[in-house]
Amino acid sequence: MATKLTTTREERGKAIAQLKGQIKRIDANTYTVLSQSGHGKYEVLKSSIDWMCQCPDHIYRGKKCKHIHAVIFSKSLRAEVAITKISPIDNFSECIYCHSTDIMKKGLRKNKSGTLQKYLCRNCGKYFTFNVGFERMKHNPQAITTAMQLYFSGESLRNTEKSLRLLGVKVSYRTIHNWIKKYIGLMERYLDKLKPDVSDTWRADELWMKFKGDMKYVFAIMDDETRFWIAQEVAETKHRHDARNLFQLAKKVTGKKPDVMITDGLRSYHDAYKKEFWTLRNPRTKHIRHIKLRGDMNNNKMERLNGEIRQREKTMRGLKRKDTPILKGYQIFHNYIREHSGLDGKTPAEACGIKIEGKNKWLTLIRNASKRNI
Ligand SMILES: [Zn+2]
Ligand SMILES: [Zn+2]
Repeated sequence: MATKLTTTREERGKAIAQLKGQIKRIDANTYTVLSQSGHGKYEVLKSSIDWMCQCPDHIYRGKKCKHIHAVIFSKSLRAEVAITKISPIDNFSECIYCHSTDIMKKGLRKNKSGTLQKYLCRNCGKYFTFNVGFERMKHNPQAITTAMQLYFSGESLRNTEKSLRLLGVKVSYRTIHNWIKKYIGLMERYLDKLKPDVSDTWRADELWMKFKGDMKYVFAIMDDETRFWIAQEVAETKHRHDARNLFQLAKKVTGKKPDVMITDGLRSYHDAYKKEFWTLRNPRTKHIRHIKLRGDMNNNKMERLNGEIRQREKTMRGLKRKDTPILKGYQIFHNYIREHSGLDGKTPAEACGIKIEGKNKWLTLIRNASKRNI
C-alpha cells in the first residue's frame, strides 16, 4: 500500500495557515499559533537568526515545527495581497474610460488658457480630453505636479516658487498654495474610496506642530507593518482630546478593527479603545499601552513620521484652519507617493495592495481622480 500516512511539518503548517483564526500577529516578529490539540497557544518568535517556537517539537527536537511553518505560510499569504493598479492616462489613441481605440475628434473646449481638443468614444459614448484634470489650468501638469513634489518633500511655498521659476514657470506662491488645495481635495475624494489592506497591529501617536504660532496636536493611527497612515485628526490640546473620532475613522478607512492597538499611556486612547474597539466577545482587540521612554526603540516608526512632518513646521506658518488640506496632502504623500526604504522601496500603499503606476504618480492620481464625462 502506497498510502502516505504521515504528513510533513511543512504540510501541517500550511494546513494551519489555511484555517481561520489560528494565527495572530502581535508584531512583525511575534505571532501566536493555537495549539492544534486545543489547549492554549504557542508563541512563535523571529530572531535575527531564525524562528523559535515554544512547543515541545521545537524545543526538544530543534526542528522547524508546524507552528513556525504556519506563520511562514501566513506571512507569504499576506505578501500575495491582491494589487489594485491605478494606471497613468497617457495612451493618446484610446478612450480614457473603456480603453477602446474607436475614438473620434468631436468639438473643441475653449477656456482662458487656450483650446483643447475634445474626443468622443464610439464604444462607451463618453466625451473626454487628454488633459483630464488640468483643463482649466493656465499652467501645465508638469509644473503643477513638480510644485507638489517640491512642497511635500519639505520646500517652503516661496522656495517652490523660486524653483519653478528656474524651470521657466512664473507663478506666485499663493497660486501654488491654491493648486495644492485644489488637487489634494480632489485626490482625497478619490482615494477615500480605496481600501488599504493593512495588517492587524496598529499604532497611535501624536505629533505636535505649530499652526500660525499656536501649538496643535496631530493625532495619527499608523499600520505597524506597512506604515500606512490610516487616519489623522488635529486637536487643540493633548490631554483633553477625545480620540474616539480618530478610532472610528480608522475603522471606516480599513473596514476592520486591529488585533492589537499600541498607544502611549494617554488616557483618551484607552477611553476611545473601550468605546470603539473593545467587545464583550472574542476576537477582541488587545490594547497595549506603551509608556514612552527616552531612546525607546519600539516607538521608532512614529518618531520617523514625526521627523517627516516636524521639519515642515517652519514652512507651515501660512496655515489658517486646523483642517487644512496640507496635512491631508502629507498623508497622501506619505502613503502613495514616497517610496520607503524600510519597505524595500515600496510605498506604504503598495505594501497594502494599492499601486499607483507611471513615472509621475501625482499625475496618475490627479488624472484618474478627475475622470468624468465632459
Ligand atoms: Zn511549534
Ligand atoms: Zn470609451
